[in-house]
Amino acid sequence: MPELPEVETVMRGLAARMSGRRIVRAHLARADLRWALPQRLASRLTGAEILGFRRRAKYILMRLAGGESMLIHLGMSGRLLVRKDSEAGALNGAETLRHPHEHLTLLTDDGWRISLIDPRRFGCLDLLPTEAEDQHRLLAGLGPEPLEDAFSAEYLEKALHGRTMSLKAALMDQRLVAGLGNIYACEALYRAELSPKRRAGTVRGARAERLVAAIKATLSEAIAAGGSSLRDYVQPSGALGYFQHAWKVYGHAGEPCPRCPGPPACRGIRRLVQSARSSFYCPRIQR
Ligand SMILES: [Zn+2]
Repeated sequence: MPELPEVETVMRGLAARMSGRRIVRAHLARADLRWALPQRLASRLTGAEILGFRRRAKYILMRLAGGESMLIHLGMSGRLLVRKDSEAGALNGAETLRHPHEHLTLLTDDGWRISLIDPRRFGCLDLLPTEAEDQHRLLAGLGPEPLEDAFSAEYLEKALHGRTMSLKAALMDQRLVAGLGNIYACEALYRAELSPKRRAGTVRGARAERLVAAIKATLSEAIAAGGSSLRDYVQPSGALGYFQHAWKVYGHAGEPCPRCPGPPACRGIRRLVQSARSSFYCPRIQR
């Protein structure tokens, strides 16, 4: 599932290709994804000028000149493809050229074709007034953006105060901080040398400072890696935003810990199941 850095990279790829362009054609292949799509979505998009893009948590907002924004969530399996529309025929009746799970297709006035492909259909699309983006039901309850100044040690300490849940579970709570998922929660906890099992309410003072700095650094590095590994954030295949990661603990159970001298001091990265999700950590340095 894409987390904040992947969604940011997808958003930048869309912005590079689509900002300032006009949508000359929009095609919907079905009436719903996770939920029903907005009424007349295709006709409301057709002819619209794209002013720009914004990311909030794991949501992308495409702002249109008419005062509406399209909200895009990629769900578990969603991805976006951008291609020069040499296969433009796909929008003009050549149905066989369309990917079987291509639910939305947009064609820009400069000939780019943007396709939303989502085999499992856990993603969603919606149209909302731009001026009320943050009041949308999916965005209204979200906590601060982790890379913005509002996400500070003081904020985190206050937000975790009295919480008896595990620190890992607290970081996954989108009301506490927006956009952090399983992977980057694991990576940030490792960087901050804090155990995923630690009681959330015990993170105060220097620990809160360390954790906030680790979250910001982990996410910033991942975003930078996405930008540097993709030309214009777009892969040669046209897929937006996914890139090769260098995770230190996530998915590395049983492997040597990059920050420890090795056995017997540290027997490597361990996996632990918390709230049905895998946590990866080093029990030696993460306390
Ligand atoms: Zn270790």
